[in-house]
Amino acid sequence: MPETPEELYERVKDSLRMPPVEEWDTFPFDGEMSPRPLLPPVEKETPRLGEGGVDCRRCQASDDDYIWTTERWRLYALDKPTGLPVVVLLEPREHFADPGDLPEELAEELGVLLGRVERAIRSIGEIGRVHVCRWGDGSEHLHWWFMARPARIPQLIGSFAAIWDDVLPPTPREVWDANVAAVVAALERE
Ligand SMILES: [Zn+2]
Repeated sequence: MPETPEELYERVKDSLRMPPVEEWDTFPFDGEMSPRPLLPPVEKETPRLGEGGVDCRRCQASDDDYIWTTERWRLYALDKPTGLPVVVLLEPREHFADPGDLPEELAEELGVLLGRVERAIRSIGEIGRVHVCRWGDGSEHLHWWFMARPARIPQLIGSFAAIWDDVLPPTPREVWDANVAAVVAALERE
């Protein structure tokens, strides 16, 4: 039997730990920190945006909103530059909620595309790593994040790159646009 959220909550709420973040080079913040109190479980999960494909903004978006499309997949860049050199997202054209919902044929294509997009972003140059992530708690329409982190700045490595993305000031528009163009060019060369 899996532990219920209520059981988990009772077990952990008075025993939260504070990891030694002050010793972590990659932690973006300074100063005294303490964990937030954990709130009790809710009755049910909040529905994700576009649940069941109803009013799904990704289903409604036109191909013009994307930087690169194929018969079954579409790739878009964030509208506004963020702190990292470029952030793009890959989605299936059709509405699927979770990776395990993809039919086999699409799942196979996804494997190939994750590699293609990662390679295209790396080809921009001065990219230390491309983080390929799937969270999925906001919008239901399946989407994979590609977050490029700058090379040779050791503090920006690892999962905190997603937080550094909001800490660093936005990448200048012309640099961002050139990076997006380089990604598209690399995808079209393959
Ligand atoms: Zn959708």
